[in-house]
Amino acid sequence: MRSLPMLKVSGLRKYYPSKQQGTWRSKQVKAVDDVSFLLYEGETYGLVGESGCGKSTLGRTLLRLTEPTEGSAVYQGEELFALSGKSLQAYRKQLQMVFQDPFASLHPRKTIGSALTEPLIIHRIGTQEDRYARVLDMLQIVGLQADHYNRLPHELSGGQRQRVVLARALILEPKLVICDEPVSALDVIIQAQILNLMKQLQQDLKLTYLFIAHDLGVVRHISDRIGVMYLGKLVEEAPTDELFANPLHPYTRALLSAVPNPDPSSKRERVLLEGDIPSLLNPPTGCSFHPRCPLATERCGNELPLKRQVAATHYVACHLV
Ligand code: SF4
Repeated sequence: MRSLPMLKVSGLRKYYPSKQQGTWRSKQVKAVDDVSFLLYEGETYGLVGESGCGKSTLGRTLLRLTEPTEGSAVYQGEELFALSGKSLQAYRKQLQMVFQDPFASLHPRKTIGSALTEPLIIHRIGTQEDRYARVLDMLQIVGLQADHYNRLPHELSGGQRQRVVLARALILEPKLVICDEPVSALDVIIQAQILNLMKQLQQDLKLTYLFIAHDLGVVRHISDRIGVMYLGKLVEEAPTDELFANPLHPYTRALLSAVPNPDPSSKRERVLLEGDIPSLLNPPTGCSFHPRCPLATERCGNELPLKRQVAATHYVACHLV
């Protein structure tokens, strides 16, 4: 039986004003546009799409690093966009983020020990000895040694730095971790090691992940369910195996066709998308994917397809499905 949703996101919108050059009028950049999904305790929900599709903005909005334009996000029964003061601080402790570039996320002149101790000091956790012991424990949990404590970020490899970033996210014992392209700066072998470590940590520490990435192959490796985003909207959502076996949205099919298939007998053909991802300042009418969609009809340019349930756990926004 499925656990209760830990996070329920409904109708989330994040629009940014943008002045049009040479006029007084301002337009809105719809970075996240009417996104709804559920995140269950202990699962990994993969959010995938090309860069600029709004998936990172979605993560930052849930962390309250930027305020939403509209919508709701209920975290363990509480509306998180209504939190302030102490309740917001408590929420921030339970929810942590892992960013893409480990080098940029660590202060170049701060030792690893001091980077890991800082969140404990900010949240006034433990004595100096407690913090030291906790940091040493955390280094061991992510596969580093005690002698990394006094090293600087540039003295570590890319994989070791990403382990430090993971350790810093986990040191406050969060329940939910938003991972924004956590392995895209790493080479393939190190990617696999970090993904395996993340899976192990999820089991051991009972974590829930929102895993944001542009690479469907990487997302597949770790996710229980996947949401596909295009131009600020969720266009398809399904459990990982179902999405790979039966992709329904033409955009998902194109993304999936680019994932290397280890089965040489597979007849899967590469679907090449024409054109660039359109500007969020001037999105196409109707289905925003229609200028690039090989199956587009006249209706697609005029009418926005709504997300519909096509199987028990499979949702798609496409007129043809
Ligand atoms: Fe393609 Fe039309 Fe479906 Fe959009 S609604 S994905 S344009 S077929």
